[in-house]
Amino acid sequence: MMNIKVFKFGGASVKDAPAIENLQSILRRYPDDKIVVVISAMGKTTNFLEKVLAAYHDNSADVSVLVDELQRQHVDVAEQLLPDPGSVVDAIGKLITQLRERLTVSPSQNYDFDYDQIVSFGELLSTTLISGYLNHAGIPNTWLDARRLVRTDSTYREGRIDWEITARQVREGVEAGLTQGGIVLTQGFIGGTAENLTTTLGREGSDFSAAIFAHVLDAESVTIWKDVPGLLNADPKRFDDAVKLERIPYEEALELTFYGASIIHPKTLKPLQNKQIPLYVKSFASPDNEGSVITNCRLSTVIPSYIVKDNQVLITLFPKDFSFMGVDNLSNIFASLAKYRIKINMMQNSALSLSICTDNVGDRLKKCMAELRKNNYKVKYNAPVQLITIRHYTPEAIEKAVGTKKLLMRQTSRATVQFVVEQ
Ligand code: ASP
Ligand code: MG
Repeated sequence: MMNIKVFKFGGASVKDAPAIENLQSILRRYPDDKIVVVISAMGKTTNFLEKVLAAYHDNSADVSVLVDELQRQHVDVAEQLLPDPGSVVDAIGKLITQLRERLTVSPSQNYDFDYDQIVSFGELLSTTLISGYLNHAGIPNTWLDARRLVRTDSTYREGRIDWEITARQVREGVEAGLTQGGIVLTQGFIGGTAENLTTTLGREGSDFSAAIFAHVLDAESVTIWKDVPGLLNADPKRFDDAVKLERIPYEEALELTFYGASIIHPKTLKPLQNKQIPLYVKSFASPDNEGSVITNCRLSTVIPSYIVKDNQVLITLFPKDFSFMGVDNLSNIFASLAKYRIKINMMQNSALSLSICTDNVGDRLKKCMAELRKNNYKVKYNAPVQLITIRHYTPEAIEKAVGTKKLLMRQTSRATVQFVVEQ
């Protein structure tokens, strides 16, 4: 199989009927290409399904009313898109019935397991609706169930990929789909275990899904269609002078996503870099424009890039026995951090303490800290704090991003400076 292009459309690009019509017009621009389209749940559906799940677990709301609303949202869009929406509305109805049935089972002890079984319906609904619409609009397509293609272990909400089985399943599925003519359409974000149980790959994981498909298909490129003109050096909501980066080397993009640039899911780049598959980020609103490309290249312009993360927690750990923060203490602490999958966004040690800045992952973080307390560490918190990272910093860039904010911790390396400040 050669020359496949993988396209990923996120929630904003399929949020309503006009958005889905626009997706269709983008696909029309590629009549001669072999295309695999990976699609997220519509708009804010994943957030909505998280509410359904919460209500299912704690009875805080009537789940059946919420599911009615979910159904209505999708049926409304189908009715706007299709003169004769009957079969698509039926297909939506079938999924909604499955979801309702799932919600009559009593909640399990494993919240993350229930999460995946329920929240995954967002992608099933969106792709079912869009597949039906595209067929009607004269873009024949094969709908593939990503739960039977992307094989993961049973780490619910963060499924780990079995690359070998995934490669075989994806190649078989996509090849069969493409030989039918037309395009192949599937879900981002979701996968399945050997026991056919649904898993998800982490919030915003559809980018990663697109990279998985591209990697195992040796695709020629991946394009992420977004509501921004490309990869910017800063979040335009925070910096009104944000500019587009045209060409970004994989390593630079990896650094940016590591520090929390939210434009691309951090797991996306590795599978692409391994096979030297370029990743284009393009605007779905202006598909004629160039966008950005992450590939094997040199950074087109070396200017400061800013990454600001809110709601961080700054934790300082002190050995209760006043021992030095040496390798023994560090290795104990890191073992606990690894066990609870706590990601370190920045860290610094002194003689008697270690400070780490991390995302507030709630329960997992609490359990981890409880374990460290038991192992004789005193734990101090600062929260919420903000983490500001500047790549290719200059004095002016620091002044612009940090200004008079109250500084809690700072770290400088050759290319990167980071500040933890009061939020
Ligand atoms: N729908 C999922 C989410 O909103 C996955 C994605 O959009 O990438 O997190
Ligand atoms: Mg989404």
